[in-house]
Amino acid sequence: MSRLSIHTKNKAQITMESLYSDLERRIVASPPGLCSVDLLCSFVKMCLAQSCGKCVPCRVGLNQIVKLLEDVLNGKADMETLDIIKLTADSIYQSADCAIGFEAAGMVLRCLEGCKEDFVSHVRTHHCTCNSSQPVPCADLCPAGVDVPGYIALVAEKRYADAVRLIRKDNPLPVTCALICEHPCENRCKRTMIDAPVNIRGLKRVAVDMAGDVPIPECAPQTGKRVAVIGGGPGGLSAAYYLSLMGHKVVIYEQRKQLGGMLRYGIPNYRLPRKRLDAEINAILSAGIEVKTQVSVGEDISIMDLKKEYDALYISIGAHTDKKIGMEGEDAEGVISAVEMLRSIGDGVMPDYSGKKVIVIGGGNVAMDVARSSVRLGAEKVSIVYRRRKADMTALREEVDGAEAEGCEVVELKAPVRIETDENNHVKALVVQPQMISSVSHGRPAPKNANQPEEKMECDLILVAIGQGIVSKPFEEFGIGVKKGAIDALNSSEIMNLPGIFAGGDCVTGPATVIRAIAAGKVAAANIDEYLGFHHEIVSGVEIPEPAYNAKTPCGRVELAFRDSGDRKKDFEPIELSMTCEEACQEAGRCLRCDHFGYGSFRGGRKEKW
Ligand SMILES: Cc1cc2nc3c(=O)[nH]c(=O)nc-3n(C[C@H](O)[C@H](O)[C@H](O)COP(=O)(O)OP(=O)(O)OC[C@H]3O[C@@H](n4cnc5c(N)ncnc54)[C@H](O)[C@@H]3O)c2cc1C
Ligand code: SF4
Ligand code: SF4
Repeated sequence: MSRLSIHTKNKAQITMESLYSDLERRIVASPPGLCSVDLLCSFVKMCLAQSCGKCVPCRVGLNQIVKLLEDVLNGKADMETLDIIKLTADSIYQSADCAIGFEAAGMVLRCLEGCKEDFVSHVRTHHCTCNSSQPVPCADLCPAGVDVPGYIALVAEKRYADAVRLIRKDNPLPVTCALICEHPCENRCKRTMIDAPVNIRGLKRVAVDMAGDVPIPECAPQTGKRVAVIGGGPGGLSAAYYLSLMGHKVVIYEQRKQLGGMLRYGIPNYRLPRKRLDAEINAILSAGIEVKTQVSVGEDISIMDLKKEYDALYISIGAHTDKKIGMEGEDAEGVISAVEMLRSIGDGVMPDYSGKKVIVIGGGNVAMDVARSSVRLGAEKVSIVYRRRKADMTALREEVDGAEAEGCEVVELKAPVRIETDENNHVKALVVQPQMISSVSHGRPAPKNANQPEEKMECDLILVAIGQGIVSKPFEEFGIGVKKGAIDALNSSEIMNLPGIFAGGDCVTGPATVIRAIAAGKVAAANIDEYLGFHHEIVSGVEIPEPAYNAKTPCGRVELAFRDSGDRKKDFEPIELSMTCEEACQEAGRCLRCDHFGYGSFRGGRKEKW
């Protein structure tokens, strides 16, 4: 008989491991709009199954909570039951020995507080507030509500132009989104329950690459109404496009030389080629939109004058000013903001960083864009300095990986302290204080000073990418409300107490994403149309194919490939490669067509118009 033996997993353990990973995927794919009480009850049951049973609060208390939650679900509870659930959870939270108990109780307390309406509705009406509001996950999570299963089915049938027409119904920038959308639509894709989310953005890329030029729909007869759009970024372009389709005369006022906003003056060519951006903007302008570039509203023309001349205004001025760190030496030569650097590249002025040591301060997508652009501008060394851990960076994982593959170095857990300069006031070093990761604050682990001496990082240039602000002053002076530096607009895009003035996009939300600005432009167009006394409808007229019944076999997700990092870092040419037709057909075939199966169909029917 041996004294010790090597542990190997038995069949039951292996099976349980696979069930855990099935469950993890299922939770990731939880669609929006589920009953919070029902889910909480299931979660607490699972926590109870994990209990070691040693301490009474966890073993007995969680069991009591399950029974009380079942009473709520079965219509046997009253308001006092909710108080008892809270008291029980409180006492488990205070007295359970380990995380199995106190974390489960914490979850109950958070849910009671955050989803109070659902609990009260179960007690008073015996059903949930969410009732039958479960939407198709991908379409619901796309801020613009693009009909994702519809266009995937069209790609599967190689009807690429129809796919573009369908997308344009809700999003007039399909090429841009196919290339750079952060694709929140994939976050809860139901396919994740089987293997992994459908590559929704990748399939949009196939549609726009294969479709060729697709003319925009005809505009409605002219209404005689005039709308001024201030700012020609994705938000302003979207509002202008839909308002023109509705028959209104639209004039875009743009302060820069060219249209596009951050699509041109932020996102680099290697991610969004200018040729394709220009073609997309030209398609939008073909709706009959007039453009006045190099006119800054508030400086070259007053908001009052525009208000007199037009029937409605849409403000979509984005977030374009740089934010300051507020440290010594920040005004030195060679300290440049990310916005300033990308703006000059946007106008085709390429700085020469040959042989320079560049430090980028920041951990978001903008920081990655300036770091990767610096590599392409010839920098000898690019270091991205971040005060938290690499894992805490807000940049997309693929952007950080891409920057590292191109030779950028990520220097984590270093907080900038001051900038040292030479006798000509030119930057020569960044002094940083080493950090250590510490307690969670506002949901994120926060860094604190480590007990280590400051370090000096020698450099020739410092690029600051710590966020952008909004130039709201001229609008505030006109009487438009400003809250925390952003324009204060309602969810309908209206400005309180100023009829006929609307606002949306980054200038309202703060720096966000392209698809959120597009969605805001769409909402504004609909509400400006109503304000002007009309009710035009935007349709696609595209028939969606019936679903096939063969999508259940587990199958890997097709990922988009990139040009080799050694080659791509030498130029600003596009880096991402599209799928082949064969890959696109397979990937489109993975879609479970939640518009037909699972949730019946889009609740209330497919949104064929808005
Ligand atoms: C470097 C960088 C990379 C990014 N990468 C991505 C990405 O990969 N994916 C993604 O989804 N989002 C990305 N974003 C965010 C995205 O670009 C923005 O959220 C989006 O462009 C906001 O659109 P908007 O129309 O509200 O504003 P903007 O795009 O900023 O457009 C506003 C326009 O208004 C003009 N304007 C401003 N003031 C005036 C005035 N007074 N008069 C006239 N015109 C004026 C500006 O010149 C500009 O053209 C990135 C942003 C940056 C900076
Ligand atoms: S626009 Fe973006 S979020 Fe919407 S469906 Fe396309 S990739 Fe997804
Ligand atoms: S399986 Fe298809 S329809 Fe369902 S969420 Fe994913 S992409 Fe959307």
